[in-house]
Order: sequence, then C-alpha cells, then structure tokens
Amino acid sequence: MLIANATLPDGRERDVRIADGEIDAVEPSLSGEPDVDAAGKRLFPGAIDVHVHFRQPGYSHKETWETGSRSAAAGGVTTVVDQPNTDPATVDGAGFDEKADLAAASYVDYGINGGVTESWNPDELFDRPLFALGEVFLADSTGDMGIDADLFGDAVARAAENDVTVTVHAEDADLFDQSARDADAGGEGEAANADLWSAFRAAEAEEAAVERAVEVGGDSDADVHIAHTSTPEGIDAASAGGATCEVTPHHLFLSREDLGELGTYGRMNPPLRSAERREAVYERVADGTVDVIATDHAPHTREEKEAGLWDAPSGVPGVETMLPLLLEEARQENLSYERVRDLIAANPADIFDLPSKGQIEEGRDADLVLFDPESSQKIRGEDLNSKCEWTPFEGRRGVFPELTLVRGEIVYRNGNFGTAVGRNVRR
Ligand SMILES: [Zn+2]
Repeated sequence: MLIANATLPDGRERDVRIADGEIDAVEPSLSGEPDVDAAGKRLFPGAIDVHVHFRQPGYSHKETWETGSRSAAAGGVTTVVDQPNTDPATVDGAGFDEKADLAAASYVDYGINGGVTESWNPDELFDRPLFALGEVFLADSTGDMGIDADLFGDAVARAAENDVTVTVHAEDADLFDQSARDADAGGEGEAANADLWSAFRAAEAEEAAVERAVEVGGDSDADVHIAHTSTPEGIDAASAGGATCEVTPHHLFLSREDLGELGTYGRMNPPLRSAERREAVYERVADGTVDVIATDHAPHTREEKEAGLWDAPSGVPGVETMLPLLLEEARQENLSYERVRDLIAANPADIFDLPSKGQIEEGRDADLVLFDPESSQKIRGEDLNSKCEWTPFEGRRGVFPELTLVRGEIVYRNGNFGTAVGRNVRR
C-alpha cells in the first residue's frame, strides 16, 4: 500500500509505503500508483491506549472485545491494554487464558494485564504472555482489588524481576471525606448531588497514595506507572518520585463544574476535580510533565449509571473519543501535533516496551491513522461504537479518523470496519 503526500505529526510531507504489515519506506517521494492520496491530511501513528476495561469475560452486557475494539479502531486507537477486573479476574493462569481466547475477536492489537489480589498466582501469570501488572489498587479498601502495602511490595518486586511495569491506581481510602456521604440528605444519592462523589474521594487522597507507590517502587527498583492522575499534586509527586503517569481525557476536559449536567454519568475513580485543578492538569499535559493520555475506558449501561450516586458503578467510556478530542485541541492550537503524538503513541510505546509501535518509521508496524485536520464534528453518543452508546463528551467537538490501519490491514475506513486482525503484542 502506498499513502502519498501525507503530513506527519512533525509537519513533514511524506509518502509512506507499507509492505508485510510494516512501514517499508517514508520518503519525500516514492514511485508507484498511490492507494491513498493524503494531500491536505495528516497521518499519525496509531494511538496506544494503555488503560481500557473491555469487560469480557463476565460483563459482556457492558462491552465486549468486539464492540470495544471497534470503538478503538473508529477512534484511531490501534493497541489497547486491558485491565484485570473482569469476572473471572485476570489474576491467575485460568483467568488469563479465558481472556486471551476472547481477546482474539479484537480488531486492534492488545495487551492483557495481570491483577494483584490476595489470591493471585504470579507464577502462572508470568508464565503467560502478560503485558504488565495493573491496575493495582494500592490502599483503596473500597475497590474490588484493593491490596495492602505488603502485598503491593511483593507485587512490585515480582514485576521488577520479570521486567514489567506496575500500573497503580493511587487513591488512599483513609483520606476520603466521610462527611460528604453524610451531606447527602436522606442518603438518596440524587443525581443533583453528584458533586459529593468528588468531595468524598478527596483530592488529597491521590498525592498520598502516589507518594507511597513511588516509595515502594523505588525499594524494588521497579518501573511504576501511575494510572489516571487527576490532580497537579499527584502528577508532581509521580514526576518527583521517578514514576511515569497518565491522565484521562475526562480529567483533562471535564471538571466538577460539569457534574450538574452529567449527574451520576460523571461518577468515576478518581473523580472529577475542581476547574482550577483541571487547568493545572492541562498545563502539565501541555508542557510534557505528564507522559501519557490513556482513557480508563470503563463503560456501563445507562440503567446502571442511573442507579443513584452511591450505587451507580464508577467509570465512563472514552476509547473512541480520546484521539478526536486531542486532535481538536491541536486544531485549536492548544496542543501541538507532536505533543499529541508523544502522549498517545511515542511515550506509551517507550514506557511499556513496544519497540515496533508508536512512531512512523521504517521497520515499525504499519499502525497508522489518517484524518483531515479541519474535519471537526460534534461528538454524539449514538454515533459511537461502544456498547453503552453514551459519552460524557456529548456535544463537544472532535476530529475523527477516516482510516485506521493495524499492521497494514484496514480495520476502519469511513464508518466501515475491516477484519478483526488484533493480536497480543507480547505473543
Ligand atoms: Zn481503570
């Protein structure tokens, strides 16, 4: 396949030839009849979303590998990393194998993370083509997979031995503000009180947990990656401690001020923060302090999300809108195209050891996304491919891809899907 006259993230205009699933040549001019005339369009390396919950096995009414990976492909994401809180949880060999069988239905490449619980079996997990450990819930007694500092220390040591990264969900439940629960008159959990979730899971709980995680990680000389940092304090603590960190699109673009409209649909962990903190997070994304944007794509049905503030499950979908929202920021000149490329492709490939992905260079996988940089459109839940059919970004603008390739195969083009070619990146 020959893609002609494409503008790369750094602004160079190049012809790109693909052969055997790899980028074969990137030159100012290549001979041959172009298959795609990309004049006026931009070509990006496919996005690597290191934090998704595709829900299978166990919760296929919320999402499946098929629907989740279609949503990814339509949003320009060519690699996803699935987290272990499925049913069964991915904490032993059988749990891993069951997920691996289902993941074969994926349109995009994937990694499968292993979880850490009291009953995990690290020998079996490390015997499999495991992506990394995570997300590990440190000191979060309210999470399904909350673990204490001793077990966390063991897990980090095993990760270091096996040369994989540990992704940490950092919220210290001891610092949650119980008075916020009491402030909900009658305990009804009215959607109008959605801001109480943010008050409850206090911002201070993040920094404290990040500090503990980097301290324990430092003892084992392990690579610690902090998932979904939502506060400037958490980001700065990760950075100061030598850990990498990610920010989600919802913490980048939404704040507590949006909860009046979102209601319980805006409930996630960590929660939305103040407008002031959101701006400080954005600054750290723009200046390169933050390493990665990842979605924490965590779909639930409308019915589940409308169950009242204290009963509704946490999480929002995001895998299809991450790159479009960021490309809209680039269109508005709030972020450079190179920064966007680093956040969604180059940096995750570096941090998680994916040398064949993340850049448009000869010899790398032809995971590519083509888009018209001026083609901005309104985001609507009903247009998206996730099973849940809603989005917290309803009505915002995004620049969506026209064409998504995974190792040279068309997985998405102008509303149509190709073949489910996804495979385990650690196979
Ligand atoms: Zn998550």
